[in-house]
Amino acid sequence: MNPFQIDPRHLPPEGRQLSGVLPPTFFALAEDDPVRPESSLKYELLVLRDGEDLVLTGHLEAEFSLECGRCLERFRQRVVLDPFAEEIPIEKEGTIDLTEVVREDILLALPNFPRCEDGNVDPRECPAEGRFEAASPAAADEAPGADKGVWDALDQLKN
Ligand SMILES: [Zn+2]
Repeated sequence: MNPFQIDPRHLPPEGRQLSGVLPPTFFALAEDDPVRPESSLKYELLVLRDGEDLVLTGHLEAEFSLECGRCLERFRQRVVLDPFAEEIPIEKEGTIDLTEVVREDILLALPNFPRCEDGNVDPRECPAEGRFEAASPAAADEAPGADKGVWDALDQLKN
């Protein structure tokens, strides 16, 4: 049974403690996703009803591997959300699934443009540090207007 299925009507006034681990499949990431879960999700949450909201507070933790956008090597990053706090409006009768909120909040804590320096498990310097930028000032995902360059390139392919 998914521990994140909560029926607000059955919550005791002092709230409910949820704690445990869920397998990496919890994150529902595709096989070929550059973000790869490398550990279970550890969670310790208190779920409380506050009027028209469900209030979640506690601790979430999981480890991922990401691909450095500079050297293309994988590195590990541990995400710890502590304190984790989230409010979910109770919009309908019945069970509310917290899965999506928990998943999103953890994945959003990962960097958009991962670099080796973001790694916090085995800190290391990026082997490509400095080289890539020097060779190509328009580092694709950092230069403003980079998208335009992509479209120009596509246009040229068409012609
Ligand atoms: Zn790197």
